[in-house]
Amino acid sequence: MVANKLTYRNNNRAIAQSARYANGFAAARRAIVIGGSIAGLLVARVLADYFGTVTIIERDPLPTQPHARKGVPQSVQPHVLFAKGYQILEELFPNLGSVLSKNGALEIDWVREFYHFNQVGWSPNANGFFDFPASKVISFTCSRPLLEWTIRQQLGEFSNVRIVDGYKVTQLLSDATKERVTGVLLRSLKGNTSEEFLADLVVDASGRSSQSPKWLANLGFIEPPETVINPLLGYATRRYKAPENFQADWKVMLISQAPPHQTRLGYLAKIENGEWIATLGGYGGDFPPTDEEGFLKFAASLRDATFYDTIRQAQPVSPIYAHRATANRLRHFDRVKLPQGFIALGDAVCALCPVYGQGMTVSALAAMVLQDCLRKNNLQRFQKNLAKEISFAWTLATMQDSRFPTTVGSIEPKKVNGLAKIMQWYTDRLLVKATVKPNLHVLCTEVFQLLRSPLAFYHPSVIWQVLSKL
Ligand SMILES: Cc1cc2nc3c(=O)[nH]c(=O)nc-3n(C[C@H](O)[C@H](O)[C@H](O)COP(=O)(O)OP(=O)(O)OC[C@H]3O[C@@H](n4cnc5c(N)ncnc54)[C@H](O)[C@@H]3O)c2cc1C
Repeated sequence: MVANKLTYRNNNRAIAQSARYANGFAAARRAIVIGGSIAGLLVARVLADYFGTVTIIERDPLPTQPHARKGVPQSVQPHVLFAKGYQILEELFPNLGSVLSKNGALEIDWVREFYHFNQVGWSPNANGFFDFPASKVISFTCSRPLLEWTIRQQLGEFSNVRIVDGYKVTQLLSDATKERVTGVLLRSLKGNTSEEFLADLVVDASGRSSQSPKWLANLGFIEPPETVINPLLGYATRRYKAPENFQADWKVMLISQAPPHQTRLGYLAKIENGEWIATLGGYGGDFPPTDEEGFLKFAASLRDATFYDTIRQAQPVSPIYAHRATANRLRHFDRVKLPQGFIALGDAVCALCPVYGQGMTVSALAAMVLQDCLRKNNLQRFQKNLAKEISFAWTLATMQDSRFPTTVGSIEPKKVNGLAKIMQWYTDRLLVKATVKPNLHVLCTEVFQLLRSPLAFYHPSVIWQVLSKL
C-alpha cells in the first residue's frame, strides 16, 4: 500500500515536532487534504500545527517550475491577490513576501498603483489630481502559477506535510456506523488499483468540480444544497512582453464593466519577467474572441482606450486562452448534517465570479477560520463559521452580477429589497465621490481589498461626505 507507507514514514518525522502541536492533538493524528491548489496548500499549513501528519493528495503531477497545470485550468488567467489575502499568507509563511519578490513578483501599493476606470471614470490616483503617499494596502502581482509554486515551496519546509501527487481521490471511507469519515480511497493516475488512506480528518479542497457532495450521498448523507448565480461571463487572456523602456506608474489597470448595459471589461497587470497579462471579459454571453484580430477589436471597444493603446505597443508571447466556467456557486455544507472527521472549504464550498478577484483571499480566510476552530477545539462549528466569513464576498459578487439582466439565477429584483436598493444607490454615489476625495479613494480601496469591513462606509463622517453636494 503505497499511500500508507507514506503515512508511516511521515509520522516518524513528525513525532519530533510534537512539542508544537496545540490543544491536545496528538502527533499520531493524521489529516488528509484533497487538492493541492491554493486552498489545499493554505489549509495544510494550518493543519501542520495540529496534526502529526498532513498529506495533500493532488491528482495532477505537480510541476517543478511555475507552470500552469490541467487540474487548475484557470491558472493561465489573471489572479489578483488582495491585500487581505497577502496579509494572511504572510502570517502563515512569514518569509513569503521576500521569496515572492526574489521569484520575480512585483509588490503593488493598491492605493497608488491600481488604475481603475469604474462606472464613473478613472480613480483619482490615475487621473493625476492627487499624489497619494505610500499606503499599507500592499500585495504582489504575478502569474497564478508563480504564486502557487512559491507557496508550495514554502510549505515544503514543514516536515510533517507531504504532497502525494498523481493520485486522485475517488471516495470517502467511513466507519461501520457511517457517522465518521475515516479516510479516502485513492487511485494512482498511472494504474487502475485503488488504495485506502486512513486519517482522522479529511478536508475537501478540490475546487469547483468537487465530488464530495456525491461521496457524502454514497455514505447516506444528504447532499448540501447549492445556489448558482451565473453571469455568463467569458474571459480571454494573453501574455505580452512589455516594450523596452516602457514607463507607467500603474502596475494593475482595470476598465470595469458597468451594469446593466456595458458588458465588457479589460484587465492588464504587470507580472514577472517583464511580462504583462491582459484579459478581456464579457458578461451575458458577450464572450471576447480568441483570434488576434477579434481580440484587438474587442479591446478597442472598451469604455476607455487606455487598455487597447497599451497592449497595441507590446509583443504577444502566448496564445489567447478562453475561460467560461465563471458562475458563482455556493454549496451550503453548513445547512446539512456532515459526518465527523470531514470538512470542506475553498472553491469546493464557494466559487465566485472571478471579476471581483476574491477567490484566493476567501480561501485564505477559510484557513484562518479553521485555525480558530482548531485552537478552540471546536471543529464542529467550522462550516457555520465559514459560511459567515464568506457571506460578504458572496453577496458582493452576486449582487453586482445580478445587475445584468442576462445573469442566470440572479437575485430576483423583488428580493432586492428597499434597503438593498438604497445601499446600492449609496455605494454608487460613494464611488463617484471617491474619484475626487482622496480619503474616500483610500477607504474604498481598503474595503474592496477586504482589509476593512464594509460597515466603514457607514461611519457618520463618510455618510456626510457621500451625501454632500457633488
Ligand atoms: C477565470 C478565473 C479567474 C480567477 N481569478 C482570480 C483572481 O483574480 N483572484 C483570486 O483571488 N481568485 C481568482 N480565481 C479563483 C481562484 O482560482 C480560486 O479561488 C483558488 O484557486 C482557490 O481554489 P481551490 O484551491 O479551492 O480550488 P482549485 O484552484 O480549483 O484547485 C482544486 C485542486 O484540487 C485538485 N483535485 C480536484 N479533484 C481532485 C481529486 N478527486 N483528487 C485529488 N485532487 C483533486 C485539482 O487538480 C486542483 O489542484 C479565479 C478563478 C477563475 C475560474
